[in-house]
Amino acid sequence: MIHYTCDLCAGDLQGDQRYVVNMDVFAAQDPAELTEDDLDEDHMEEVSQQIQEMEENAEEPDLSPTTKQFRYDLCCACHKRFLRDPLGRELSKKVSFSKN
Ligand SMILES: [Zn+2]
Repeated sequence: MIHYTCDLCAGDLQGDQRYVVNMDVFAAQDPAELTEDDLDEDHMEEVSQQIQEMEENAEEPDLSPTTKQFRYDLCCACHKRFLRDPLGRELSKKVSFSKN
């Protein structure tokens, strides 16, 4: 049996409800901004052709090296805290306040 502990408070998750957080972090890529002109039929054909070429040229289409995946197991209490403040903004605010 796999033993789980909470990744935030290190609490034992055995017999407790376990919550899983999956995060993908990657560099945003905006290769082509679509304008109304791009939606013309001719352009659509061009675009789909370009996409096809890109797919044919791509060696590893799934994961770029800049993609990071994180997976966390959380207990019930930490899950609630996480949902309230997923990026820890509350916490960083408190830190900067205490410095003043
Ligand atoms: Zn926890």
